[in-house]
Amino acid sequence: MSPGWIGSSPWWDKPDPTGETSTGERGLRFTCTMCGHCCTGPTGYVLFNDEEGDAMARALGILRPEFDERFTHDTPAGRSLIERRTGFGYDCVFLDREKVPGKAVCGLYEHRPAQCRTWPFWTENLRSPRHWKAAARTCPGMDTGTLHSPETIRLTVERDTGARRA
Ligand code: SF4
Ligand code: SF4
Repeated sequence: MSPGWIGSSPWWDKPDPTGETSTGERGLRFTCTMCGHCCTGPTGYVLFNDEEGDAMARALGILRPEFDERFTHDTPAGRSLIERRTGFGYDCVFLDREKVPGKAVCGLYEHRPAQCRTWPFWTENLRSPRHWKAAARTCPGMDTGTLHSPETIRLTVERDTGARRA
């Protein structure tokens, strides 16, 4: 499904699109605080394509069949990373709550799938300011930190939708 803003100017390519700033800047702000909220919660899917599965297996120093067996399962949406039940909810199997005190970080950060890499610039979050604000209620990194230009956001969305099609 192609994003609806191709050939048009989306809401986040307007000055101060979220109303959080009044500098005339275009684009959206986001810097991850490493709270881990997006890697836990209710049970869900962390989908990846074949190339990403190979990269994660290589990063762990194991072969792909072992990776699939130990860390993934089949879902109606495709192959997903498994989760572990913790006191916080269903943590992604690679969420590491020990490495950085007080933080929850991705144990495979450099090799995480596009689904994770492209958050929060997902088509569903960019549908409208209301959708963006709704997502920001669970992600404290949104509307703060680094300003991502409209062009960067467009490229990120293309990458996300491409990966989800793969
Ligand atoms: S919820 Fe947002 S701030 Fe927290 S870890 Fe995920 S991306 Fe980072
Ligand atoms: S792969 Fe990493 S970033 Fe993605 S859900 Fe798991 S812990 Fe979070």
